[in-house]
Amino acid sequence: MTLSEMRLLLDAENLRLTRSLGQNFLHDGNQLRRIIALAEIQPGDAALEIGPGLGPLTEALLLAGASVLAIEKDHRLIPILQRRLGTQPGLELIHADALDWLAQFPRDWSRWKLVANLPYSVGSPILVDLAQSPQPPKSLTATLQAEVVDRIRATPGTPEYGLLTVLLAEAYQPGPSFRIPASCFFPAPDVASACIRLDRRPQPLVAPDRAPAFRSLVKRAFSQRRKQLRTVLRGQLPDERLASAWQRMGFAPDVRAETLSPETFAQLLDALEPRG
Ligand code: SAM
Repeated sequence: MTLSEMRLLLDAENLRLTRSLGQNFLHDGNQLRRIIALAEIQPGDAALEIGPGLGPLTEALLLAGASVLAIEKDHRLIPILQRRLGTQPGLELIHADALDWLAQFPRDWSRWKLVANLPYSVGSPILVDLAQSPQPPKSLTATLQAEVVDRIRATPGTPEYGLLTVLLAEAYQPGPSFRIPASCFFPAPDVASACIRLDRRPQPLVAPDRAPAFRSLVKRAFSQRRKQLRTVLRGQLPDERLASAWQRMGFAPDVRAETLSPETFAQLLDALEPRG
């Protein structure tokens, strides 16, 4: 879908785009092809798309031979999508808020690939919700604010490293990414954008029964990232338990959350709450 086709369609429908829904539509064919290539879409793949908008990425996914489950919140876009792509046998279109829908209808996503140009206001929560689902997708390929992509890719000790990095690292490893110029969207967003693929780890960093404790430890640890970790955890855990875990981990007394890798957090959980 070219920019002029997009403009004509919006004019014909008398549709004013909604900023709060992150409606910056991608019209650049080259970038759409790069997203499909990054997601490594093969004929027969099952793709979950959140926020199809006017459908340019949906169309590219269908063309690449994927079947698509697309969830769109804006009711005004549903008849347009149905008219444009509704006859395609591989498309299932759902009108819903994706965050609500994912929570309401949990399913086995393990064979699925998420491919989406996510609304920036809910991009991180959508990725975290999917990553924390019991059977998360094979891969997550998402266009996001470049600043969020930097946080996902961040390494310990950098300012970008934090809660989002570690929550996603529990089940995923960041793969390749690339920047998308603002001029490729209509209207051009005020912030820089990038597309990243995250690949599901063969094994998550923590066993499923330990996942809630891992998430709660990490959330607590990053709630005051500038403070010493031991001070942050004090109050929640007995002092002796913290002391013995610190010794077992070989941590300096003043260690901070922002310096610990996701793998180290998983080991710290075992030191704090030994299995069985
Ligand atoms: N995929 C299209 C494209 O690439 O041009 C549109 C992407 S646009 C950045 C984000 C889309 O997500 C919009 O169509 C918006 O209406 C939709 N959206 C916003 N919040 C949503 C939510 N919570 N659930 C589902 N869709 C949402």
